Amino acid sequence: MMMTYPKDVVVEEQGLRDGLQSEKTIVPTEKKLELIKAVVEAGVKRVQVASFVHPKLIPQMADAEEVCKRLPQVNGVLFSGFVLNTKGIERAAKAGLTHVAASISASDTHSRKNANASREEAEKRFAEMVKVGKEHGLTIRSGLQCVFGCRFEGKIDSKVVLDMVKKQLDLGIDEVALADSTGMANPRSIQEISTKAVELAGDRHVFLHLHDTEGKGLANVLAALAVGITHFDTAFGGMGGCPFIKGASGNISTEDLVFMLRQMGIETGIDVGRLSAVSRSLEDFFGKRFSGKMHRVMERDDIKIVY
Ligand code: ZN
Repeated sequence: MMMTYPKDVVVEEQGLRDGLQSEKTIVPTEKKLELIKAVVEAGVKRVQVASFVHPKLIPQMADAEEVCKRLPQVNGVLFSGFVLNTKGIERAAKAGLTHVAASISASDTHSRKNANASREEAEKRFAEMVKVGKEHGLTIRSGLQCVFGCRFEGKIDSKVVLDMVKKQLDLGIDEVALADSTGMANPRSIQEISTKAVELAGDRHVFLHLHDTEGKGLANVLAALAVGITHFDTAFGGMGGCPFIKGASGNISTEDLVFMLRQMGIETGIDVGRLSAVSRSLEDFFGKRFSGKMHRVMERDDIKIVY
């Protein structure tokens, strides 16, 4: 069977949030602003720049307000803030953001451990978040964590997931994100859930937030493209993890995804070479190597790169 692929794909860079929060070393605000500028100059149109969670829980994001207040003003670029409660929404609005990613977990156990709330309680809180977000005139991306598996509970019932998606859509959110927070998804589970989520969402976009923990990241992208998903979260160099989920290392690498898509004739508008330089400069900063591949390949100027 011939698959049909989209012409364009939208990539949301999550390295500044999912990436930086997974490192012990705190990146100074000034350096974050440099990174944001570089990412935008590389052609990224959506950037998640901060997380409005309690600074005691995630000290790496304690400067969220400061970062948001000093964001470059660039036409056609959307900056997003990650929020887990109404307090976070209020902080994001006050800091001048117009868009937030409000997230809860599809796993009851993960929700209890991470958000200190049962799944039902978290859903009630989510409805409250949407209400407050709308009062502040924000656009809202709803997020569901652990959609494709949880390290505490194992498989999450897809009926539960889709029911949660439907409830979020009914609240009037603007777009949906399904997160494979633990990297447990496989191409089949991606297609089963994405197909139905796309159907439910209608003309609202469905994002996939994928981690490469088990090495299936790009295979999952390919499976998702085939069922109409055109929006993906990634992190430069394949950075990232989840501070609350053990072994949830590595988002899919922005460069790896962009490069593969470009070879397939699918445009993202992102310059792989420029973004690779950003990833390598961060590797120098942290004194470690990230798990992505293309930023390493692009380092070599003595070999042929074939797009
Ligand atoms: Zn993540």
